[in-house]
Amino acid sequence: MKGKPVALVTGAGFGIGRSIAIELAQSGYDIAAVDIERIEELGVDFFPIQADISLLEDHKKIIELTLSKFERIDVLVNNAGIAPDKRLDILETTPDSYDRVLSVNSRGAFFLTQRAARKMIDLVHKDPNCRPCIIFISSISADVSSPSRAEYCISKAALSQISRIFADRLSEFNINVYEVRPGIIQTRMTAAVKDKYDRQIAEGLIPQKRWGQPEDVARAVVSLAKGSFSYSTGMVVEVSGGMNIRRL
Ligand code: NAP
Repeated sequence: MKGKPVALVTGAGFGIGRSIAIELAQSGYDIAAVDIERIEELGVDFFPIQADISLLEDHKKIIELTLSKFERIDVLVNNAGIAPDKRLDILETTPDSYDRVLSVNSRGAFFLTQRAARKMIDLVHKDPNCRPCIIFISSISADVSSPSRAEYCISKAALSQISRIFADRLSEFNINVYEVRPGIIQTRMTAAVKDKYDRQIAEGLIPQKRWGQPEDVARAVVSLAKGSFSYSTGMVVEVSGGMNIRRL
């Protein structure tokens, strides 16, 4: 392969996506960094793409700009995601909030992946030694119940299945697909509920008694992208300080 491998990271402006873009750049990837607003700085070299993942018409632009800049996509990280504007009990969830959250978290990621996967298949046909991969940032909410944000949990459960089905379908092309499930990570998304989670962490909610940091997730993504789990397509990696452990 000539030049560096190329990673396309969505939602790279803040939080977990920003950290993923930085860690991948520091590990030798060229980065196409997608966000709603044009990203001005990451502290590493990157190519900014302004786009909204919920708008399918923006997907064409994302792929075309990445290919015109770098000519290939080796890694797609579907990280862009939103929480409901307002946490409402499942008995009060509104259709607007349901549609908004699913349009970014699952529908947007699904169709961007479909488009990127076709280009990755072309890449594998041209260079059979190449091993592209796709990583979905879902959440422990994929199988944890939070009745005050049902639409978020549903969107992440859908994303989990999206990851599994793409893993199955793309295996014949040696394109591995993984799902990363962060737990409670300190970002802008969780800032509004910081006091609640501070209290719950102090009371022992998380076996590894601390907030997760974006870098905890980013390091897992880099090891997946680098091929450390090359015989494990479809794998789910939980980055949650042990919240996956059922306790009595
Ligand atoms: P964040 O700090 O709010 O960052 C989200 C990023 O995604 C922002 O850069 C945001 O851009 C971008 N984004 C949102 N909607 C977008 C859209 N329609 N098109 C393009 N970019 C969009 O959130 P985070 O905590 O880092 O979350 C990142 C991912 O991890 C999400 O999928 C989230 O569900 C997941 N996750 C987070 C946690 C947690 O505890 N924080 C736990 C589990 C899973 P703007 O700022 O320009 O809107």
